[in-house]
Amino acid sequence: MNQASAGHLLQLIRNGTATTRGELQRVTGLSRSTVAHRLDQLFRAGWIRETAGDPVDAPTGGRPSLRLEFDASHAVVLVADLETRHARAAVLDLGGAMLAEHSGSLMINQGPDEVLDRLAQWFALLLEKVGLTGDAVCGIGLSVPGPVDVVSGQVVQPPIMPGWDRYPMPDRMRRAFAAHVSGGGPEIPVLVENDANLMAYAEQRLGYPDCSAFLLVKVSTGIGAGVVVDGEMYRGIDGAAGDIGHIRLSDHPHALCRCGSYGCLAAVASGRALAEQLTAAGVPTASGSGVRDQLAIGQPDAVRLAREAGQLVGGVLATVVTLLNPGVLMIAGDLSGPPFLTGVRELLYQRAMPRTTAYLQVVTSRLGDRAGLAGAGAMVVESLYAPDRADSRLAAGAPRE
Ligand SMILES: [Zn+2]
Repeated sequence: MNQASAGHLLQLIRNGTATTRGELQRVTGLSRSTVAHRLDQLFRAGWIRETAGDPVDAPTGGRPSLRLEFDASHAVVLVADLETRHARAAVLDLGGAMLAEHSGSLMINQGPDEVLDRLAQWFALLLEKVGLTGDAVCGIGLSVPGPVDVVSGQVVQPPIMPGWDRYPMPDRMRRAFAAHVSGGGPEIPVLVENDANLMAYAEQRLGYPDCSAFLLVKVSTGIGAGVVVDGEMYRGIDGAAGDIGHIRLSDHPHALCRCGSYGCLAAVASGRALAEQLTAAGVPTASGSGVRDQLAIGQPDAVRLAREAGQLVGGVLATVVTLLNPGVLMIAGDLSGPPFLTGVRELLYQRAMPRTTAYLQVVTSRLGDRAGLAGAGAMVVESLYAPDRADSRLAAGAPRE
């Protein structure tokens, strides 16, 4: 039954396995009339469209078969990427194209009530800008700089998000959406995920679709890692995987970390730590993005500290890479320039076995500051149009027969 469902046909169309009625019959073994019936459900929902295929599809000179495709414009996704002092929000179509974007100062330590309310106001303005209302939105995706239990959508013991521990973010986001966005209903799906996971997800899909083990390390205010295995985010059993910023280094016992422990990697090698070290060296710097600004102008202390930080991170990554054997290690975030990368390479290749790094590419981000938004959009679309979810949404929206 499931094999034959409309949601399953949609998946075959979306991933390119079968894009004509004939191919769908062959791949599924369904009859012509059953395929037609299932496709009608998808057409009525507005999820797919049929376009004239290329003449090359009809080599005998007959009528080219009609090609089925996912209609990426039938709805939009609202996404936001929260950093500690700054946030981005955007309206994306279902193919990930950015229709409108807004970014600005938003302090995460103001707490979830204030922050999510402001985000909903941003969403309202963005929708207005593209001439849409809340009815057009199929889901909301939020990227946060902390560990997330994706089942509940709650952040769990986030060291740099004071006041957010176990806060019911999806509920609060839904209420804010209904309050601020015209046509915005209280039932909107809201998905929350860790920022490094989403960045890894987006970068792997875009730039390295054939890489079966992909590792991204984000070094901004904090340090986190995202792992994508066989195209799926690897979260561990409850979303704590990849929080490498709080691995203890044995030789920095007096460095106090935001998590309350001493000697964490983030306490000595994060953007926040470097901002403090730069300030102490006489270059007043407020945050990871301040360090980024100093690096951009080649400030010598910033360059030296970034390389040393890269070495510390590279030492930890030697273990991570030995465990995962990734094909790509991507360094992203505020510190991800040449000095930091040099430091990472120095320690990584020195400490990891040659066998683990023989085919490893160490690279920087392609999507840059938009990786988190792109990942959040892809997460929402993949979740809402997965076969089972698609079927239940079709059933819920279908008129009674
Ligand atoms: Zn820590």
